[in-house]
Amino acid sequence: MRSLVGYNDAREASCGVPSFSTSDQVLMEAKLILAHGREKSVRRLHPWIFSKAVAKVENPPEAGGDIDVFSADGEFLGRASYSPSSQIRARIWTFRSNERIDADFFMGRIARAAEIREPMLLETGMSACRLVDAESDGLPGLIIDRYNEFLVLQILSAGCEHHLPRITDALKKLYPDFSIYERSDTSSRTKEGLEQRAGLISGSEPPEEIVIDENGGMKILVNIKSGHKTGYYLDQRDNRKTLERYCRGKSVLNCFSYTGGFCLYALRGGARAVTNVDVSKSALEIAKRNIVLNHLDPGRVKFVKEDVFAFLRRMKAGGAVYDVIVLDPPKFAESRSQLEKACRGYKDINMLAASLLSPGGILLTFSCSGHMAPDLFQKVVADAFLDAGRSGRIIQYLHQSGDHPVALPYPEALYLKGLAVRAE
Ligand code: SAH
Repeated sequence: MRSLVGYNDAREASCGVPSFSTSDQVLMEAKLILAHGREKSVRRLHPWIFSKAVAKVENPPEAGGDIDVFSADGEFLGRASYSPSSQIRARIWTFRSNERIDADFFMGRIARAAEIREPMLLETGMSACRLVDAESDGLPGLIIDRYNEFLVLQILSAGCEHHLPRITDALKKLYPDFSIYERSDTSSRTKEGLEQRAGLISGSEPPEEIVIDENGGMKILVNIKSGHKTGYYLDQRDNRKTLERYCRGKSVLNCFSYTGGFCLYALRGGARAVTNVDVSKSALEIAKRNIVLNHLDPGRVKFVKEDVFAFLRRMKAGGAVYDVIVLDPPKFAESRSQLEKACRGYKDINMLAASLLSPGGILLTFSCSGHMAPDLFQKVVADAFLDAGRSGRIIQYLHQSGDHPVALPYPEALYLKGLAVRAE
């Protein structure tokens, strides 16, 4: 790709033979050349280039600008965005040399991602879903979630930041009646040298609350401006429905309940009693209102504002028993270096939960830490049952819903995994 540099700079950079000149500026090829043998992952269509794999960068563009990636032997491998302050030094937009990263490119990729979701929206009667899931939709660093007529953007890479005007233009053309709101207020942006930001991009300001439809008939209150992530945990949609079928006549403990997503399905599934535990008072307040909104029975529900670790210990000491327990904690491992500590945290809550389950009770346990591999998570849960002196069987493997797909060359996209374990 080309970056604009001053004529004199260009003359120096190219020993006096500029590749293309206008009156006083020269377009120079921005090139990233990989170290010997480091092209293997790119050939398998993985979109990331780590800084360690880079041998040389010629005519670096501004942060987020386009750059062509070559093997050490000079073979074109892909066209990427350049991120000088990130360990992921470049993210590949396209593996085709004739594809330009322009308005048409973004239109095409977003339209294709939306097309895949269309049947999901129709079939399941949803008004909210993830429309674009970053690397898995060929748009590294770009999240777009749809909530009714609002599109909520999260920009996680320097490349998407650079191309934001083209991304928003594409969205305005594809969804002329929708409003676009940005929730780029996540700390992971610092790795890309980006500040946190949130606010309206176009259309009308989202109200304090909107009501989305989930899984055909469940109504959920969502605050786009201040809710977690882009407003709500869309990724757990299928698993909430899974819970429903285990709950008839049961007592259910919903740990890390947030706005009560799992609780609503437990009630719809016929739970006798549900206890929601979360540290967030405001989330529990919304959970209460979600129950009323869906004409479910608030008389069967308890709300506990407490740290889950402390609550579970207290329940264990008091000899409490539950038929069904949901553990859906926040990300315990933000980086690989935190993995060991995260494992201890997962083991702790799973051990406590295992000891609270009735015979034949079901635990739905999750990890949304991308650094936690599914087999490691399973091992941690197995160790937790062992330490609790309980035996159990996995009766279902769970994961993020299909609007958060996993592109085959990019297995890192699988971040949410869960197990349904039946205790003896
Ligand atoms: N299960 C929810 C999503 C859970 S998100 C859903 O389906 O929508 C994680 C939740 O855990 C957040 O609401 C956060 O407030 C809460 N949380 C984080 N740490 C906690 C702790 N130590 N004890 C209790 N709640 C906690």
